[in-house]
Amino acid sequence: MKIDARAACLQTPRGPVVISSLEADTPGPGEVQVRMEACGVCHSDVMITGLEKLPLAPLVLGHEGIGIVEAIGEGVTNVAPGDRVGITYLASSCGACDNCRGGRERFCLKQKNHGFTRHGVLATHASVAAQNLVRVPDSLSAAQLAPLSCAGWTAMGALREANVQPKQWVAIFGFGGLGHLAMHYAHHAGANVAVVDIGEGKLAFARELGADIAVEPDKVKATLGKELGGVDASLVFTPSAAAVPVAFSALKRCGSLILVGLTTDTYSFSVTETVLKGIRVQGSYLGTRDDLEKVFALAAEGVAKPTVTEYPLDATPDLIARLHQGQLKGRAVISF
Ligand SMILES: [Zn+2]
Ligand SMILES: [Zn+2]
Repeated sequence: MKIDARAACLQTPRGPVVISSLEADTPGPGEVQVRMEACGVCHSDVMITGLEKLPLAPLVLGHEGIGIVEAIGEGVTNVAPGDRVGITYLASSCGACDNCRGGRERFCLKQKNHGFTRHGVLATHASVAAQNLVRVPDSLSAAQLAPLSCAGWTAMGALREANVQPKQWVAIFGFGGLGHLAMHYAHHAGANVAVVDIGEGKLAFARELGADIAVEPDKVKATLGKELGGVDASLVFTPSAAAVPVAFSALKRCGSLILVGLTTDTYSFSVTETVLKGIRVQGSYLGTRDDLEKVFALAAEGVAKPTVTEYPLDATPDLIARLHQGQLKGRAVISF
């Protein structure tokens, strides 16, 4: 059935984000129609609004959503009408390449992405790919669950890449949507957390949520590198190339530098130090299916609930602008 929907659409490359009316299509083969409950606004949305070319325009944005399945298309067996599901950036992948078969679907060359190469879920109703939907608990509000589909998933993936052990120190660079969840997950894993961000507001917020240390970037070398003797892992969530050498300087020998935040700028650090200190540099993109299920299981147990602020769909254009300027605390979520 066709349904009248409202959605946050990017009209043209680098154009305005406009709230438009559209018809949500009947789900095609392998698709489901979802009545959206909530969708977070993510830095990737900001990135996509800045691209010179778009695979689809106008494009419905949004890729961290929670909704209720209303109808299923041909061949869908993993979810049924009435199920509450989490929708992620990874809409579908080929299922046959080495990456797909190795549980690394997020690196499949044939993947489709919600809110980028297919329409997203910043919409009252959406037709989405069924392949990677995950069932989510009913015990939490959709607004609290929504950021877990992207920010939580990606934060958990980064922590797994860092292989953090109890009592180790993790430094988190950028205390936004991902950073605050990564801190909860690191604490749950028994690690200590140092938060690095700019501005006393963000640092006070980090301490309020339980950061063991919270410092500005210019204090990192002295505080984390020298006083503490270095951290075991630096996770860089901030989309700033300038943060990378600072994160590097915080590491102890055999530490891991995990890069998550996307930036088109480049960075440099010493090859000699990387080699002599045995530093591991690892890019971390989204997460595995296990990571995603773990994130929702932890939320259901009451561990690591995201800090969210709810807004109506009409606020989306303004939220994307404010996120771009680094003005949001925790995660902004659209509730439908
Ligand atoms: Zn995202
Ligand atoms: Zn594949």
